[in-house]
Amino acid sequence: MKINGCPLCGKPTSADHAPFCSRGCKDRDLLKWLGEGYRIAGPPAQQDGLDSDGDDR
Ligand SMILES: [Zn+2]
Repeated sequence: MKINGCPLCGKPTSADHAPFCSRGCKDRDLLKWLGEGYRIAGPPAQQDGLDSDGDDR
C-alpha cells in the first residue's frame, strides 16, 4: 500500500508522527479512537445475555 499522506488532513506524513503529519493530527486520531472505544465499552450485551438465559430456563 502506498501512503498518500496524513489520513486526517492529507498533508505529507512526518517521520516523527507517522502515519500522521503532525502531533495535532495524531492527538485528534487518538481522541477519535478513545471516543469510539468509550461508546463500544458499554454495549447492552449483558442485558441480552441475561434475557436469553432466563428465556431458556
Ligand atoms: Zn494531518
